[in-house]
Amino acid sequence: MENEVISAKNIRKEYVIKKHFLTGRVKEKVAAVKNASFSLEAGKTLGIVGESGSGKSTTGEIAGGLQKATYGNVYYCGKNTAEMSSDEYREYRRNVQFIFQDPKGSMDPNYSIRDILAMPIETLKIAKDKKEVDLLVDDILQKVGLDLKLKNKYPSEISGGQCQRAAIARALVVNPRVVVCDEPVSALDVSIQAQILNLLKKLQAELNIAYIFISHDIGVVNYMSDSIMVMQSGSVVEQGDAKQVLVHPQEEYTKRLIESAFIN
Ligand code: ADP
Ligand code: MG
Repeated sequence: MENEVISAKNIRKEYVIKKHFLTGRVKEKVAAVKNASFSLEAGKTLGIVGESGSGKSTTGEIAGGLQKATYGNVYYCGKNTAEMSSDEYREYRRNVQFIFQDPKGSMDPNYSIRDILAMPIETLKIAKDKKEVDLLVDDILQKVGLDLKLKNKYPSEISGGQCQRAAIARALVVNPRVVVCDEPVSALDVSIQAQILNLLKKLQAELNIAYIFISHDIGVVNYMSDSIMVMQSGSVVEQGDAKQVLVHPQEEYTKRLIESAFIN
């Protein structure tokens, strides 16, 4: 694919859940992801949907390098991440950022929003001095629709929606090409969910970011995605163009997910 930023080929993840107490030999393993493959182009969204425990988060974490696959490979801009030099690997990790379900839990409560956003800028030496750090922090706060006055607040002092905006700002401040959004609106009030989804869409259009968008909610995935991967018990049961999967689902499991969305 011409514009591909990230892809995975036949990834499988096994967790050891039981070892022999003396020999250390593996007695029981569980496969969280079995043979998943996908490809994502710049500026597009791949939705991963499935019930809790189906392997969505594990797949997203492997795509962004937070976890290693037991088998299979992840490619960033066509390059196998397992064969990268340390500089290339650092570039890949910087370019694939994450947003999680619980923004407050993912932020250090002892730092102000300003310091939380300044940290990646300073660590990666993106700005030349403190003044430039502050300019970048202000710029990204404006992009995510947060009042500059919130800079001096701590995560516990702002709302869940504001905190998720700050988490989005933190992910975007290093200019990533891919963001893995793992249930980014599942913990938010329904009235706030649409605002965050629309913000993610606006930022994608402005910055040409690709999203791996994970949710158990097929309605939300439908709203966000260009292509969809449906997972069940670690297996990919169906994948393809979003309209194709949702309007003409081939698998019984996908049909059930769609039906249950209407009942809720
Ligand atoms: P989802 O995000 O779809 O809810 P996960 O990727 O978190 O699913 O988990 C997939 C499966 O892998 C689940 O059965 C889960 O219990 C198991 N699992 C996840 N992480 C671990 C781990 N660190 N050790 C053992 N099993 C795990
Ligand atoms: Mg999960």
